[in-house]
Amino acid sequence: MSELIEKLKTIESDTEKRLLQASTLAEVQDCKVRILGKKGELTKLLAGMKDLSPAERPVVGKVVNEVKQRLNRSFERRSGEIEHQEREQRLREERLDITLPGRPRHRGALHPITRTFQKIETIFTGLGFQVAEGPEIEEDFYNFEALNIPKDHPARDMQDTFYIAEEVLLRTHTSPVQVRTMKKQSPPVRIIAPGKVYRCDADVSHTPMFHQVEGLLVDRGIRFGDLKGILEIFLHRMFGEDVGIRFRPSFFPFTEPSAEVDIACVICNGKGCRVCKHSGWLEILGAGMVDPEVFRSVGYDPEEVSGFAFGMGVERIAMLCYRIDDIRLFFENDLHFLSQF
Ligand SMILES: [Zn+2]
Repeated sequence: MSELIEKLKTIESDTEKRLLQASTLAEVQDCKVRILGKKGELTKLLAGMKDLSPAERPVVGKVVNEVKQRLNRSFERRSGEIEHQEREQRLREERLDITLPGRPRHRGALHPITRTFQKIETIFTGLGFQVAEGPEIEEDFYNFEALNIPKDHPARDMQDTFYIAEEVLLRTHTSPVQVRTMKKQSPPVRIIAPGKVYRCDADVSHTPMFHQVEGLLVDRGIRFGDLKGILEIFLHRMFGEDVGIRFRPSFFPFTEPSAEVDIACVICNGKGCRVCKHSGWLEILGAGMVDPEVFRSVGYDPEEVSGFAFGMGVERIAMLCYRIDDIRLFFENDLHFLSQF
C-alpha cells in the first residue's frame, strides 16, 4: 500500500515539474493526457488497486482522489497562465498605428425610382390610403375584361404586352390590383397600388418595364370634387404648394367622366420650353370616376356606391422631380448616375 502511495506522490511531483516547463496550451494538454488519459500513468496505477486488501482500498482511493483534484487544478492554473502570457505577447507584437486613414465604407443609396415611390406613398398614406399589391403575371380577366376592355377594344392595342399564355400576361397597369381588392373587400375602399408594369415599347421616354402608382377610392356619395381635392393635395405636396394644376377632359375605358391632369411646367414655370413642348403644361396623371360597368364586374352596386380612380407613371414624376431627360438612365445602373441621389 505504502508503495502505491509513494508512486502517486512521485507522479504528482513529476507532473507539477513538467507543467512548469510547459509553455504552450498543447503541451499542457499533452501532459494531462499522459497522466489522466485512458492509458495515462495515474490510470495505470489505479488498475493495480485490485491487488489491495478491502481495508486498504478506501485509504488509497482517498489519496488518489486528492491527487487527481490537485493535478486538475494545476492543469487549469497553468492553462490560464499560458493564455494570459500569449495575450500579452500578441498585444506587444500588434503595433496599432492610429494615425493611418480609415478604410472608407461605400454606402449604397436608394434608387431614384424607390425614393419617388416612397414620397408618393407617404403622401397618400397620410391621406388615409392603404398600400395594396398584386401579381405582375396577371390573368386577362383582371388586366382587361373586368376593366371594361373586351377583346376587340382598341385600348388593347395601346397596351400591347407580353403574353405567357393566351389568357395569362404581364400586367400593363396596376389596375388589376384595384379589381382584386374590390372582389375581396366590400366598400369603403381607399387604396393605392404601386408596382411594376409591362408594355411592348422602347424609346427615350418608354421602357418595356416601368412603374405605376394607381389609386382607388370607393364609398357612398363620392363625387368628382373629391377626386379634384385629393389630387390637388397630392400634386401640391409633390411639386410645391404653388404649382399650377389643370384638368382636361379625356377618355379611359374604366372611368366616366375621365380627365388628364396637368401641372404647370416645373422647368420653365409655364413660360414654354422643350420639355413641355412649349405648351407650359406637363401631363402628369390620368383620373376619373369609376365606370358603373367596373363596379358591376366586381359585384358592387353602382346605385349604392361611387368612386374615383387615378394613375401615374413613377418614372415620369421622378424625371420631373430630379430633372432627368432620358428614362433609360434609370435602368442602365451606371454609378455615375445613381450616386447622385
Ligand atoms: Zn416648360
